[in-house]
Amino acid sequence: INSKLPDVGVTIFTVMSRLATETRAINLGQGFPDFDPDAGLLAQVDAAMAAGHNQYAPMPGIPALRAAIATKTQALYGAAYDPETEITVTSGATQALMTAILAVAGTGDEVIVLEPNYDSYVPAIRLAGAAPVAVQLLPPTPEAPGYRPDWDAVRRAITPRTRALVINFPHNPTGAVLDDGDLDELERILEGTGVVLISDEVYEHIVFDGRRHASIARRPALAARSFLISSFGKTFHTTGWKIGYCCAPAALSVEFRKIHQFMVFAVSTPMQYALAAFLKDPRHYLELPAFYQAKRDRLEAGLQQTRFRTLPCPGTYFLLADYSAISDAPESEFARWLTTEHGVAVIPIAAFHADPDAPASNRQLVRFCFAKKDSTLDAALERLQRV
Ligand code: PMP
Ligand code: GLN
Repeated sequence: INSKLPDVGVTIFTVMSRLATETRAINLGQGFPDFDPDAGLLAQVDAAMAAGHNQYAPMPGIPALRAAIATKTQALYGAAYDPETEITVTSGATQALMTAILAVAGTGDEVIVLEPNYDSYVPAIRLAGAAPVAVQLLPPTPEAPGYRPDWDAVRRAITPRTRALVINFPHNPTGAVLDDGDLDELERILEGTGVVLISDEVYEHIVFDGRRHASIARRPALAARSFLISSFGKTFHTTGWKIGYCCAPAALSVEFRKIHQFMVFAVSTPMQYALAAFLKDPRHYLELPAFYQAKRDRLEAGLQQTRFRTLPCPGTYFLLADYSAISDAPESEFARWLTTEHGVAVIPIAAFHADPDAPASNRQLVRFCFAKKDSTLDAALERLQRV
């Protein structure tokens, strides 16, 4: 077979979750909650099925869910997306990302990604026939202890071939978030270019310490050139439902839907009804920062009692920790060792780089997921104290 992705194996999430299961380790690797969604949301699924919502949904999503997404986006970010022509419900953010990338990028094009990055972007760009161009985030320094976007480097990376820029804030795996100044920079960088912005905001509702999520939808000049992508998996603890969405101006949404209709046609009908009903109460997502901040604080405080050193976590449900006081092994080796020898699975950050074996990709950092029951976090911390 003439492989389209000859160098691609199974993802690091599959690898580490499998290892965690095999070794009965506590899985703080792959990002998913180990607790159930709200019982009220689950009841809505049963109600939708009982009401006969069991056949194909309309191609772009059921109207009630698209309307609820429009209402939320308007209320939070002041952006008016037309549910008829500008909002499409997808099979998770993963499908929305693939569809958006296929819609805009092709042979000879370049698409900029910020490294480290979520693992689906680069394969999607390559399947589109385009070339990924990686711009490194600025790594932590003693003065600025978190990762930061390097806007000057992004500006320098734009060429006449650049078709799109993919960003993801709050950022997986570093937890970095944007502020208003970053949105100003983005506006300035993209002004006068034909670059489409693909903004992966799946952690939009998981920002801490009173921060306000800097969505690109807050800026009309950015929204006008963007695919805004999110996922209910992160927001309602339903990663297994695989329901997300894409908001984009009509001209971009037309192209997006041309591909979406042949990729999946439509996504799970009863889940869409359930989410539409649940979204009516904004508390269901407005309570998320406090919920996850308590878990972040619990993990962070617990890790202070270990030889790991944590990095700041302003958003997402991931916390990075430096293990250089424990080992000088490369990240993947350390993650495997921690799982098999100490029973706690984590994700090496090197896996979010194009070349995980390059020395620059190995900063002796691993990612802990804290979307877990307090009892799971406590049990993991007890083990980590012995490392
Ligand atoms: N983007 C990022 C940054 C993610 O962390 C994830 C989930 N791990 C996704 C996209 C995929 O979201 P979904 O599960 O809705 O496909
Ligand atoms: N987004 C999840 C993470 O970063 C994993 C999703 C997946 O397994 N593809 O851990």
